[in-house]
Amino acid sequence: MFNQTFDSSLIRRIAIVGSGLSGLTAAIQLRGLGHDVTVFEKSRGPGGRLAAKRVTGGSADMGAQYFTSRNPDFLPFLHKFAGPESFGPWEGRFGFQTNADKRESFPQETRYVGIPRMTAITRALSGHAHVVTETRVATLARNDQSWSLFSTAGSHLGDFDAVIVTAPPAQARDLLADSGLDALASHLDDPVSRVLPCWAVAAHFPVSPWPHHEGMRCKHPALFWVANNSSKPGRNDEGQWWVLHASPAWTEDHVDTPAEEVAEKLLAAFRETTGFDTGPDEVVTHRWLYARSEGGEPPGHLWFPEYKIGLAGDWLSGGRVEGAFDSACGLVAELTTLPTTQ
Ligand SMILES: Cc1cc2nc3c(=O)[nH]c(=O)nc-3n(C[C@H](O)[C@H](O)[C@H](O)COP(=O)(O)OP(=O)(O)OC[C@H]3O[C@@H](n4cnc5c(N)ncnc54)[C@H](O)[C@@H]3O)c2cc1C
Repeated sequence: MFNQTFDSSLIRRIAIVGSGLSGLTAAIQLRGLGHDVTVFEKSRGPGGRLAAKRVTGGSADMGAQYFTSRNPDFLPFLHKFAGPESFGPWEGRFGFQTNADKRESFPQETRYVGIPRMTAITRALSGHAHVVTETRVATLARNDQSWSLFSTAGSHLGDFDAVIVTAPPAQARDLLADSGLDALASHLDDPVSRVLPCWAVAAHFPVSPWPHHEGMRCKHPALFWVANNSSKPGRNDEGQWWVLHASPAWTEDHVDTPAEEVAEKLLAAFRETTGFDTGPDEVVTHRWLYARSEGGEPPGHLWFPEYKIGLAGDWLSGGRVEGAFDSACGLVAELTTLPTTQ
């Protein structure tokens, strides 16, 4: 255990695990405050669940579909660091089915998307941070007053005064437990149980399969959401790409079902929902084991001063894109208002 007394002005080198919106937000803000920040990302590129898959003629958003902005700091942050060209409003009709053939509109609200794909935002943000991709942080090892980070391959990734973990709860818990930090890992037991999986399918149709909505929350037991990805700004697809998200319960029941079979079943559900009988000519799938958090009273972020380890992410602040931003801002604010000793 670290000595409980430390000088927060000595937090110079900060490691951030994860380059989703929360990790990049924290990195940019902390760098702006003069810290030396390195972001480690296990995937090939930054973005996390702001994700898109390349498809013929463009890309399809497989994770977050859109985001809202209630925090007055969020859009100015995106304008400044991602650039106004990387996102914009998604105009359209959005609603939910109340039964098989009745639908109601979502509340009026501006819904934003990345242009030309969701990852455009995080790609642009990552230009303001030092991001090391294809590097999974496997363990943190205490080193007097700092932490040594090690990759899955056993490489020493550097020494840091503080560590911020922005991975989804299950991955954050594994990292802490594998580092012998069981007291911290135990904070994640309940959040882990609240994260829901989601099978995602993107399907291309030569003609419009559903004229009524650009995005619709479905009543079907297998389907949670369907959206016309091609209706988002800057896509310019020939024909239409639609994204289908399975319901959490259906995904749990089919978590190990082969992707092709999942696509067939979700497309059958799409046909039942829309009445459109023509099959797609191209399909891609993605399985999210950790898609969204539900329930619980999120504390916003977690900071363990005696360890100099913080946790941030959407799951600590409402489970959405904007929550990821809020969570990172809250943690950075706490770090910067720390007394010089505690
Ligand atoms: C199918 C789906 C639909 C969604 N729809 C919406 C929506 O319409 N609107 C909305 O607001 N939100 C939506 N969300 C939620 C939204 O995507 C998330 O709230 C947000 O993107 C989370 O950002 P984050 O930075 O907290 O986490 P993430 O984006 O998950 O970032 C965490 C990062 O950590 C990395 N990582 C994990 N472990 C390690 C490790 N050990 N070492 C290095 N890197 C690691 C991961 O690869 C990942 O890049 C959806 C999510 C999914 C999956």
